[in-house]
Amino acid sequence: MILKNKVALVTGGTSGIGKATALAFGAAGAKVVFSGRREAEGEATATLIRDAGAECLFVRSDVSIEADVQALVEKTIATYGRLDCAFNNAGIEPPTKPLHEQSIEDFDKVMSINVRGLFLCMKYEIQQMLSQGSGAIVNTSSVGGLFGFPSFAPYVASKHAVMGLTRSAALDYAKQGIRINAVNPGPIETEMNDRILEKMGATVDIFDSIVPMGRMGQAEEIAQAVVFLCSDAASYITGQPLVVDGGATVS
Ligand code: NAD
Repeated sequence: MILKNKVALVTGGTSGIGKATALAFGAAGAKVVFSGRREAEGEATATLIRDAGAECLFVRSDVSIEADVQALVEKTIATYGRLDCAFNNAGIEPPTKPLHEQSIEDFDKVMSINVRGLFLCMKYEIQQMLSQGSGAIVNTSSVGGLFGFPSFAPYVASKHAVMGLTRSAALDYAKQGIRINAVNPGPIETEMNDRILEKMGATVDIFDSIVPMGRMGQAEEIAQAVVFLCSDAASYITGQPLVVDGGATVS
């Protein structure tokens, strides 16, 4: 219960890493607010969190729309009175192809959600955290936020931008009680990875050779890293990437 009595927000919480983290926040004792664009999946996840014994609220919200993001933070404060932890996780992937074949429309779409959306979330979350004098933010980057990957240029650029936002904002608020870190997953078994493998015409076997642990990660393994970074156990950590990748980027 390392987040007991904390209020925790998750974006992109209707599936994958976000859903697992919303559940993990609840299990760690937090009151959970999570957002997504899919109403039915959101309400189903909210039922799971409540059945496990935590208080929770699902808010339908698109991170690329400023009014939605502002309303999400306002509803969090109106319902639970404060905001202690925020996991900015909503993200999409563009088609998998070399840079010269990528369209400007796909590039703009990835940036509008993965970068602009995350910037908007931080802007409104930090306003609330400044008024409280405390808070912890974790942004979902990727191992693609630290290294290049062929056929993923717009995605990799967006996840490097997440690192830039994380590091700079961490410096802005280090003296004001707000810690800001990133989590950098390797290949994790989610709907996004299913889509990427399908586009590449590949199967999960490719991770046997790429990942030293010989398997994809589970969303719950990212969720535990996020809970740690949001907790007081990480009280002297800010501006850092936490790589959770089965050893993929070590060699
Ligand atoms: P996912 O597709 O299951 O989850 C992405 C979530 O973001 C979905 O719930 C989706 O509805 C939501 N979302 C997308 N656009 C949104 C918007 N405009 N507003 C609100 N919500 C929106 O896949 P996932 O793997 O759980 O991805 C979560 C995050 O993890 C993403 O940022 C992704 O880039 C990152 N990531 C994933 C992997 C992986 O291997 N799965 C690796 C590294 C990083």
